[in-house]
Amino acid sequence: ASVATMPAEVPASNRVQDRTAPAAPALRDGFVNTPDTDPSLAANRAWGDAIRARMKDSTLGNDTVAANTLSSAAQVDERIATAVAAGEAWRALGAEGRAEILHRAGDILEARRAELLEVMGSEAGKVIEQGDPEVSEAIDFAHYYAESARALAAVDGATMQPVGLTVVTPPWNFPVAIPAGSVLSALATGSPVIIKPARQARRSGAVMVEALWEAGVPREVLQYVQLDGRDLGTQLVSDPAVGRVILTGGFETAELFRGFRPDLPLLAETSGKNAIIVTPAADLDLAAKDVAYSAFGHAGQKCSAASLVVLVGSAATSERFRRQLVDAVRAYEVGEPSDGSTRIGPLIGPAEGKLLGALTELHPGQSWLLEPEKLDADGQLWRPGIRDGVKPGSEFHLVEYFGPVLGIMTADTLDEAIDIVNTIEYGLTSGLHSLDEDEIQQWLARIEAGNVYVNRGTTGAIVQRQPFGGWKKAAVGAGSKAGGPNYLVGLSEWTDAPVNT
Ligand code: GLU
Repeated sequence: ASVATMPAEVPASNRVQDRTAPAAPALRDGFVNTPDTDPSLAANRAWGDAIRARMKDSTLGNDTVAANTLSSAAQVDERIATAVAAGEAWRALGAEGRAEILHRAGDILEARRAELLEVMGSEAGKVIEQGDPEVSEAIDFAHYYAESARALAAVDGATMQPVGLTVVTPPWNFPVAIPAGSVLSALATGSPVIIKPARQARRSGAVMVEALWEAGVPREVLQYVQLDGRDLGTQLVSDPAVGRVILTGGFETAELFRGFRPDLPLLAETSGKNAIIVTPAADLDLAAKDVAYSAFGHAGQKCSAASLVVLVGSAATSERFRRQLVDAVRAYEVGEPSDGSTRIGPLIGPAEGKLLGALTELHPGQSWLLEPEKLDADGQLWRPGIRDGVKPGSEFHLVEYFGPVLGIMTADTLDEAIDIVNTIEYGLTSGLHSLDEDEIQQWLARIEAGNVYVNRGTTGAIVQRQPFGGWKKAAVGAGSKAGGPNYLVGLSEWTDAPVNT
């Protein structure tokens, strides 16, 4: 591997050092995924150590947050008016001009990889191992949507028009990739954007936005805000000048937004309650490893996380699978992201409500295969738990917890297992572990989920290769998948319908 070099124009301020990665391929004539940092190289481990050493005292993003915290309705109005006015020139730049800037944004996000990892660890509890692919995804979104917009602009007989001011309200769990994907997609189509990152991840969102400003996206076209008070949020989302709201968050938030304005043009990626089915024809060792990672990566705080494993037939009574699963999960060290041995960081806040119940209370017929363990006074640091004996129709079967707890269910047949999974209201991700081609086809034909994974974990979608989007209650107003070929089509107005070949 050769050492990736920074573009000369990017100031080297505040950067830890370069990481070692394969040279970036030429992207203009196509799209290639950005490689993650390879931790098997000693130089990259040293790079990670230097980032971790900075996490505790990190102040990245503070200035942008402070300068853009609005406290009055008049300030919100002013921001909206400025964005709408600035949108004209952004649209007039054309897909080609915007693509140049977006490609540059991808390069600058790469150059700032270390800073993004530092701020995500410092603010949102993300360990480098989890944050690194997230930065790669943000970079991929920049290059992919740039190319996608260029390609759509060249479609014969149809013209892509921006929908206008887009309000982006991303979550705290992917504090860089999700805001970046939403913002970059809207910008690529020619719309101006106001982004309000989740309070718990406001600095991470700020550093991501700073990178886009540095790339040449005007500050009027891409505006960062934090809002003092819920009323200002309602005002921003429901303003009639808003042409689209892109929300990633809980289903209840989507419902709340729709209540503000009945005709709200909302695109929402919402909740998940995801399962992996394991049949007797699976490689049980691989299944155990994938289930463990899907359930407990980032402490289970992913919409895509596996919350259930459904064991079929003889897999249901397999001692080996349970032992392998417990061993895989026990091997995850729980601690602060600034500690190099940590694999699972703290929850975003103390466990409470439904999640606390799921971590502490067993229901009739259930037992702990691995009992969760609280490691701090607050209840933010938990060793993960696995409960056995979850019954169809029970709360654990149907409710999203968003934390480090997995339930085991059993079924006599694959069809019965699919029924169990399809009963869940959400259809975000779903997994199957089986090496039997007939079983795979049977599952693919029946499973109700936007993202389906065979013999792989259910987290970590990859731009272009595995576009990400939900089904059933996991998606509101979303027709196409983020990071896929039709995402920008759905985000735009068309003077004539594009022919989708
Ligand atoms: N895209 C992420 C993944 O594939 C999940 C996003 C989310 O949790 O909201 O893991």
